[in-house]
Amino acid sequence: MQILRTVAELRRWSRAIHASGGNTLGLVPTMGALHAGHASLIRAARVSCTHVVVSLFVNPTQFGPEEDFVRYPRAFEVDCALAAAEGADVLFAPKVEELYPGGPDSTLVEVPRLSERLDGQTRPGHFRGVATVVAKLLIAAEPDRAFFGQKDAAQIAVVRRMTADLLLATEIVVCPIVRDADGLALSSRNAYLTSAQRTQALTLSRAVHHVESLVAQGERRASMLLASAHGAFATEPKVRIDYIALVDWSTLDPVETAVPGTLFAVAAYVGSTRLIDNAILN
Ligand code: AMP
Repeated sequence: MQILRTVAELRRWSRAIHASGGNTLGLVPTMGALHAGHASLIRAARVSCTHVVVSLFVNPTQFGPEEDFVRYPRAFEVDCALAAAEGADVLFAPKVEELYPGGPDSTLVEVPRLSERLDGQTRPGHFRGVATVVAKLLIAAEPDRAFFGQKDAAQIAVVRRMTADLLLATEIVVCPIVRDADGLALSSRNAYLTSAQRTQALTLSRAVHHVESLVAQGERRASMLLASAHGAFATEPKVRIDYIALVDWSTLDPVETAVPGTLFAVAAYVGSTRLIDNAILN
């Protein structure tokens, strides 16, 4: 696996691949601290593309001033080993100045309305940072497909809208949430949890499970589904709800009635760690 640090190198590599007919490039954008969730995206890219690039970049513009940019877990050597073992051809690991040559005055990409929903409501500017860095990566790598985890479902809505609005040709592929055996959705931020908090964190997946079970029994009313999710949190007062929402997955607008494809999403603080989980209802 090659490690590339500059946009020029990445673009040269991508264009060389595309110069030979029949090749396809898959991009897996990550912030590193790779786990089995990231590995599943790399594998999905490996299956559907002839070449795979994993980007590893802790993107400063998607963190708020009080958030964990500085202490976000970084494990470069381990990440290289995992990406190589999963079959990535290239790891793209640029410095901040490489992706933001304009420094603090860089051009930013704003997706209206969607950016203020769900995580965007609690984390102002977060989705502007996400849309900006994903646009940069798509423009730099020119991949045929980019692979994202359903774990960050609101992010997918933002990225889909951004790529459509900016006329980017990359297909956005969504991969299922990878969970630990007890149901906790894998996240780089799980590393922050103490063992007691790790148990408390299961409240999120329990809430998701309650809602999925009710839907399987035929319940469709948002009021009932949301009440059931709140019920899951009532037994764990140490976990502070950020949001519990039932929304249209493309607009992120709240819905009254769940239909196939409706997004149920939850975010909560366990100690100071903010975790998210969700399900696409059927
Ligand atoms: P991150 O490094 O947290 O920015 O995540 C990079 C990509 O991995 C995003 O598309 C995430 O949605 C995806 N991802 C993170 N956790 C999981 C998981 N548990 N299952 C599947 N994909 C995930």
